[in-house]
Amino acid sequence: MMWTDKYRKAFALSYDDGVYQDVRLVKILNQYGLKCTFNLNSGLMNPPYVWESDGVRIERMPPEMLPELYRGHEIASHTVSHLDLTQLSDGELFSEVIDDRHALEALFGQSVRGFAYPYGNTGKRVKFLLNMCGIDYARGVKSTYSFELPEDMLDIAPTCRHKEDEIFDLARQFIEWQPDSPKLFLLWGHSYEFDMQRGWERFERFCELMAGHDDIFYGTCGEVLAKGGELYG
Ligand SMILES: [Zn+2]
Repeated sequence: MMWTDKYRKAFALSYDDGVYQDVRLVKILNQYGLKCTFNLNSGLMNPPYVWESDGVRIERMPPEMLPELYRGHEIASHTVSHLDLTQLSDGELFSEVIDDRHALEALFGQSVRGFAYPYGNTGKRVKFLLNMCGIDYARGVKSTYSFELPEDMLDIAPTCRHKEDEIFDLARQFIEWQPDSPKLFLLWGHSYEFDMQRGWERFERFCELMAGHDDIFYGTCGEVLAKGGELYG
């Protein structure tokens, strides 16, 4: 059964890079019954990869803590080593995507058919090759500020990023709306961004607002976007 048999609205989240701040994010999501897709780089989990942005320390988590942490959510590919696919040869692209899928499938014991573009970069050649790598849907980074279901599953634009000013207005609009056809609110970001500018507090208020509505389906990106049925666990 597809969610659209029962619902006209779906809310999904998509978070990238598998960093330590995901521990706090997952706790909040689980508390509110929200589902997320985590886009991971299997080649950057060991040894720990650390960097800094706006004074916030960012570190990717080791693989052994991830299956337990992300239980109940979807795992998707973000390439083995976070490379811009448009800069790779066909062969390099294949190994960055297929090797990542296989490593994540082995680690998590779930089918990996989703993808998020590193740096949001894609194109006609990239999409063609991704499809050959067994990827069913791929998310970019450019906000639409709208709730239309994507037409091109390999070029999915999210509704917005959590740190944008519009999220509360969009949430209220979505909650009050009674559309005639299926609509999707797709939010994306990186959990380390919550460490900046009181982001956690703001995000919790947002989750409180969005969660618990009988007429909204809360699913992972895979559950919301899968065409043919329940491919994703
Ligand atoms: Zn990324």
